[in-house]
Amino acid sequence: MHYEVVIVGAGPAGLTTALFIKNRDVLIIEDHRRVGLPKHCTGLVGEYTAKILTSLTTNRIIDNKYYRIIFHTPKGPLSIESKDPLSYHVSRPLLEEKLLDRVLSSGHSVLTGVRAWPGSPGKPVVTRDREYKADIVVAADGPLSIYARKLLGRKPRFLVGVQRVYRASSVDPGAFHVFYSGETPWFFQWLVPLDSDRVLIGYAERPGVVLPLDKLAARMASVIGLSLGSPIESYGGLIPLNKPLRNPVYKDKFFFIGDSLPGTKPYTGGGLYGIARLAPLLGKSIDSGSINSFIREYRILRSRFYYEHLAATIARLIGYWRPAYITSKLYRAGLIDKSSYDNHLEIIVKALLRLDLLIKSLL
Ligand SMILES: Cc1cc2nc3c(=O)[nH]c(=O)nc-3n(C[C@H](O)[C@H](O)[C@H](O)COP(=O)(O)OP(=O)(O)OC[C@H]3O[C@@H](n4cnc5c(N)ncnc54)[C@H](O)[C@@H]3O)c2cc1C
Repeated sequence: MHYEVVIVGAGPAGLTTALFIKNRDVLIIEDHRRVGLPKHCTGLVGEYTAKILTSLTTNRIIDNKYYRIIFHTPKGPLSIESKDPLSYHVSRPLLEEKLLDRVLSSGHSVLTGVRAWPGSPGKPVVTRDREYKADIVVAADGPLSIYARKLLGRKPRFLVGVQRVYRASSVDPGAFHVFYSGETPWFFQWLVPLDSDRVLIGYAERPGVVLPLDKLAARMASVIGLSLGSPIESYGGLIPLNKPLRNPVYKDKFFFIGDSLPGTKPYTGGGLYGIARLAPLLGKSIDSGSINSFIREYRILRSRFYYEHLAATIARLIGYWRPAYITSKLYRAGLIDKSSYDNHLEIIVKALLRLDLLIKSLL
């Protein structure tokens, strides 16, 4: 069978790319039976991402807003607050469901419950019972991308994120908490209210590090004076650690997007920002046959992520909490604002200009 474009993976990256391809026939192949499931994401995004994702779907995908972020560091709790939302909670899988509705109504085909992989040359997409020819293949197949592994020989590196939704009372729904602890030196732990009765609590660490989540949750809840009830559901997934690919295009035919790149923010693992920035451009570029605008934007983001990767690596050596300490101080000094939620390089640059704060954070 032949399609002009085959997209492997119906996560936010694959679906958003498809939405912007208007003039070519597109087939999306998704391994799972239902898009968006199983869940894995915490769903926190900044204003830029929230705006793009709601403009593509509906305002209903944002089901909570946060006006306060509290970092629990060895130097005590440090908070950032604003009268406008600092961060938003995206309801997943509602995001994927709404993107899928739009993709289907634009006439594209979606196959679910089917796994795809690259075959021999001339067979860019193979499934259990079919081979697909395609002019373009979009590898939106997530953090373990079989296309990145087979075509580029990339070995995936990742952290494992584990989280659980609990019933809770005395919740301030407008504040989320980030905990730094020696148990999770490569990342952090989080407590994110979903509404005034439920919180999402989790941690991420290297593969093989398994922590007692209920115990961590009880400790986080007691620190902030929250009364925790029974767990409702558990889920998790992989947060890529690889640096973004030098070139997101392979042999002018295979395009990488989303966690297959990976386009995740190096310090927090947030991947929806990179998707909101790049996937519309990738879709438009495929449609027009000129990939320049996508490549230009990709290079800008990749060079920024390069420095952010470097900073995250250093933070893992000197204490993952230190960037949060610096961020809160810069914010309080009015040197950064909520737009820095997505631009950590800006925080790095401002921190280098305020050496006094940088030195204080190291003491
Ligand atoms: C614990 C955790 C917390 C997170 N929290 C946040 C957060 O707060 N904010 C944020 O912005 N980001 C967060 N992320 C990251 C975010 O979820 C991802 O960046 C985002 O989902 C990536 O989208 P994607 O479409 O690239 O990949 P995915 O969402 O992984 O989708 C890939 C799709 O491809 C399918 N697939 C894979 N292989 C194949 C194949 N061979 N054939 C067919 N289909 C295939 C999969 O089934 C899946 O549906 C978090 C991730 C984790 C694990």
